[in-house]
Amino acid sequence: MKAMRLHKINEFTLDQVEKPVPKGDEILVKVGACGICGSDIPRVYELGTKVYPVTLGHEYSGTVVEVGNPEDSNLIGRTAAIYPVVPCNECPSCKIGQYAQCSNYRNLGSRTDGGFAEYCLLPSKWHLVFSQNEETSKDDLALVEPATVALHAIRKGEVLGGNQVMIFGAGPIGILAARWCKLFGAHPILVDINPQAIAFAKERGFVVRNSLDSDFVEQIIEETKGKMIDVVIEGTGTSSALNLGIECCKPYGMITLLGNPHTDTTITLNEHSNILRKELKFTGVWNNYYNDLPFNEWEYTVQMMDENKLKVSDLITHRSDLEHLKELFDRIYNKEINVCKAVYTTEI
Ligand SMILES: [Zn+2]
Ligand SMILES: [Zn+2]
Repeated sequence: MKAMRLHKINEFTLDQVEKPVPKGDEILVKVGACGICGSDIPRVYELGTKVYPVTLGHEYSGTVVEVGNPEDSNLIGRTAAIYPVVPCNECPSCKIGQYAQCSNYRNLGSRTDGGFAEYCLLPSKWHLVFSQNEETSKDDLALVEPATVALHAIRKGEVLGGNQVMIFGAGPIGILAARWCKLFGAHPILVDINPQAIAFAKERGFVVRNSLDSDFVEQIIEETKGKMIDVVIEGTGTSSALNLGIECCKPYGMITLLGNPHTDTTITLNEHSNILRKELKFTGVWNNYYNDLPFNEWEYTVQMMDENKLKVSDLITHRSDLEHLKELFDRIYNKEINVCKAVYTTEI
């Protein structure tokens, strides 16, 4: 079978490899679609990964084609979103079902083979979140992972119906967070500095503001009729967004830190005082919940897609087969194209 494997930094090639054979509890899926995550670009060109060679891709869907355990044969032919974390099941976080905090995890698509291939071997059926609606496309199911991250940010931010929510970063996760806000009856305002990203989100019906506008804060006062922001979702990992978020947050509001920082974060003296005066709350956000306690965000996200309540297909701006995937990676890395979500798909 064909697989896009990373051999070392900047050596990402389409290889002919042995098609895996499932043993024991293992499941073989035929990949339906696999999204290019923002983290995959630096993984290929700058950072590399811990294991070589490895098939990348952790945002994917697939259809069960072979099973190791005959008891699982009823799953053959069923299509699912795939939870990519392989937890150790031994550390304190795993013991309480909080796999995102596992201290010794592997990840399908970064530390073990993932979804940029024709087939992918899963350790067991535990990784499969089945869709119940045949109309839900494999491309859509590849967006379940980013959609759960967006949902998790909204839930950790304690967004309630009627809240004004400011989301920094109008990329796929920001737009998905704004969609969840609307589903829950909250009012999202997306914020970005990239004119193309702003236009893209506006075309999808969102209120979007450019934080570089000199009257940005006045615009937010007007947009919220002076009430300001209940929950800030900071999705860029930058000091400037964090400081603006603190400024626009109303007393007792919540600042949700979602974006990964790349340098030290600085809070100005004025905004530090504002945190105290407004008695703001802060929370960090890491991935999502994949357990019934407190709440399985993966099952809920697939269910909301199956019920046609969460729309994701219009975020896919670029599609590719395996043969052209490296080219698509190069074009994203070289900033030749404006991408919201790009996917490898078998549906073209
Ligand atoms: Zn990702
Ligand atoms: Zn663990």
